[in-house]
Amino acid sequence: MDEKAHLLFKRIINFLTHYSLFITILTVLVGFSLSFYYLTSASDSITNENSKLEAQRYLETLTAFRTLYTSEVVNTAKNNGLRITHDYKNYDDAIPLPATLSMALGKAIGNKRSDAKTYLYSGYPFPWRTQENEKLFSQSFSRDAWQSLTENPDKPFFRFENLEGQMSIRYAIADVMRPGCIDCHNNHLQTPKNDWIVGDVRGVMEVILPINLGQAQSTSSFQAAFVVLISMTLVVALVIFLFFMRLKKDTLVLQATNDNLQQKQNEIKVVNDEIMLAHDELKQQTIELQHSNNAKSDFLATMSHEIRTPINGVVGMLSLLKQTDLDREQQQKVKLAHFSADSLLSIINDILDFSKIEANKLEVEAIDYDLCELLGNFTNSIAHRAQEKNINVILDLTQIETTFVKGDPGRLTQILTNLVGNAIKFTEQGEIKIRANLDRIDEQNLQLSCSVSDTGIGVPKDRIATMFDRFIQVDASTTRKFGGTGLGLAIVKKLCQIMDGDISVTSELDKGSTFKFSIRLQHSDQQEKSAPVVNLNSLNLMVVDDNKTNVTVLSDQLTRWGAKVLQTTDSQSTLHLMLQQFDENEKNHFDIILIDAKIPAIGGVELAQKIRSHQQFSATKLILMKPLNTSNDNKYYDDLGFDCCLTKPVTKSDLADVLNAVISNDEVSKLMLSANTEPNAQHLKQQTLADGMRILLVDDNAINQAVASCQLRNLGGEVTVAKNGLEALQCLQEQVFDVVLMDCQMPVMDGYTATQKIRELSEEYSNIYIIAMTANAMKGDREKCLNAGMNDYLTKPIDFALMETKLITASNRLLNADIISTGSI
Ligand code: ADP
Repeated sequence: MDEKAHLLFKRIINFLTHYSLFITILTVLVGFSLSFYYLTSASDSITNENSKLEAQRYLETLTAFRTLYTSEVVNTAKNNGLRITHDYKNYDDAIPLPATLSMALGKAIGNKRSDAKTYLYSGYPFPWRTQENEKLFSQSFSRDAWQSLTENPDKPFFRFENLEGQMSIRYAIADVMRPGCIDCHNNHLQTPKNDWIVGDVRGVMEVILPINLGQAQSTSSFQAAFVVLISMTLVVALVIFLFFMRLKKDTLVLQATNDNLQQKQNEIKVVNDEIMLAHDELKQQTIELQHSNNAKSDFLATMSHEIRTPINGVVGMLSLLKQTDLDREQQQKVKLAHFSADSLLSIINDILDFSKIEANKLEVEAIDYDLCELLGNFTNSIAHRAQEKNINVILDLTQIETTFVKGDPGRLTQILTNLVGNAIKFTEQGEIKIRANLDRIDEQNLQLSCSVSDTGIGVPKDRIATMFDRFIQVDASTTRKFGGTGLGLAIVKKLCQIMDGDISVTSELDKGSTFKFSIRLQHSDQQEKSAPVVNLNSLNLMVVDDNKTNVTVLSDQLTRWGAKVLQTTDSQSTLHLMLQQFDENEKNHFDIILIDAKIPAIGGVELAQKIRSHQQFSATKLILMKPLNTSNDNKYYDDLGFDCCLTKPVTKSDLADVLNAVISNDEVSKLMLSANTEPNAQHLKQQTLADGMRILLVDDNAINQAVASCQLRNLGGEVTVAKNGLEALQCLQEQVFDVVLMDCQMPVMDGYTATQKIRELSEEYSNIYIIAMTANAMKGDREKCLNAGMNDYLTKPIDFALMETKLITASNRLLNADIISTGSI
């Protein structure tokens, strides 16, 4: 319904509801009047018609009787000599005239039944009727009737008149001269006229009939009909009234609801407008925020680049300086400068990392790696620092069964470096325990739960809640003593959250702290590698260490592998236990004894000598658990009576390897394992750059050029330097190279364009291995380099060990390509 129609409908309803009573009464009155008018008219016309019919029949009856009387009686009587006269009663042989008899008959009927009065009168009356005739002619009706009928004999003349208070019909017809009567009238002695012919109007026959009865009947029907009509009208009016009342009520309710709705709609509109306004503001703010974020990111990227480039120079130059001949004092100064540069780099890295996280620009990789190996290598890498402070580092991986996972090993190492770094920093004596557990969440996901506990200074309770906030350090004096930025834990928390986990801490002042964190990892696509296993079933082992945590962790692991394990904390109780067991069982009870090098009193070496001095213990295998910074001279330990050595902190895989070697008496393995201090570094160092590897170094920064070329030459490479991309292209066309180290931001032609151009060159050059070497370390920079066609990516300041690894990868690829092309090994 459109607006106009709706408005009109509303107005009509309004009008009807307001004037409903008035309309009802008006309707009743109009109905009543109309009914009355129509019923009255109908009743009158019916009454009149009926009266006319009755009068007509009445006169027709009299006429018929008169005709019959004339033909059947009068003529016969006349033939038989009887007298026909009006005063027949005065004669014995006389009968009445037809007119006289019919009048008498009319009178008799009228008296008997219907109050009818019958008259016969004429303009030419017989003398005996003159008087009555004149009386009748004094009335206008009689005169009018005589005149009308003499002019028009066939048309009855009638009129309704109120006679003595009673409505009556006066109906008159012409009394026409009939053939049977004409003689008598023309020849009668007293005839007023003797030239009558047949068809002349002799007189007028009139009947007066009261119409009361018909009228009464019609009135009562009318009244009944009227009552019915009124009742009906009233009922209809009432129904209409009630209907409109109801309508009015409904309309009011509807109107109220409508008003309410309208109000609500208005309110909603207001709220909507406010929301729209807020939305617009928010949008504006978001745009502004985005701009400022972009500006921040750009600033970060620039800062990152600008700061890293000179630091690269400083660190590089210092490491080169260290390799030259320096006196003691110079060496000390270079060492301090190197340490300061490293500290500055770590602070800048912290700030950049935190800003990257804030700007949502931190990358998290998903690559397959061996979790146990990573944790073992990490523990080994930080053990030096801890052992320098005489702090034990214990790695507990007892709970981990499957070690291959998918995730970001770099970020996990970053978290651990921070937490364990803090633990070392804030612990003066005691131990640091790293414990890891891997739980399956579902088909795809795993949860790594890790804890780092120390026995350090701890944190006051009221400071715990804010420890993960940025730039928060427990107190200023602590800051002064220990340094740092207060960003490490904030970064760690963000990293955990990015990897769908979190971190928490419990701490007691002067007792130590435990940081527990969890991150989500994925099942590895690579073939599942299970954790190292040794079969120690039915073997008796003993662990000798005064560090309870270490003893417990080792015992747990050995028990898991099937051994029966006893623990002691010093040499005396060890020997006592060995002798006691031997006495009781009369046989050598212990198959393997793991001895810590630094047990109280006599130490691990002396204990071994004592054990070996007892002939009955000759079959017992002895394993020494020695700190990292001790001698690797196998012969020395062999002479002391040890079967094999384990470097602390003991990793699960090292423990398994050593036990397997000792059980199987594998001399070669024993030898290798005893000498193995840092497995990965060792592994890397075994491989060196192929002598004479032709390297094209592309960098615009003179210091970077100098640092990198020196390092590369030290590794045995042949280095050519190009200042920009264009020069690099020229060099490549003039000389043959094995690998390109490509800076990205350079004048004339940048590294991305240069790489694209190289890839467009002929096959001879286009396949060359290109490693990006850039200070751009923001999210997406790696992809940008790879998308431009580079093979690998290195960030500045250059980690030369990593650069060496990447160059080895390039050189291996070169070697493989040679093998394929020459078909020889
Ligand atoms: P930073 O170590 O650079 O100061 P962090 O965010 O790593 O920054 O640590 C914040 C502060 O939390 C530290 O300054 C120190 O006061 C406290 N803290 C962190 N780890 C430990 C710990 N293992 N024992 C005691 N205090 C700690």
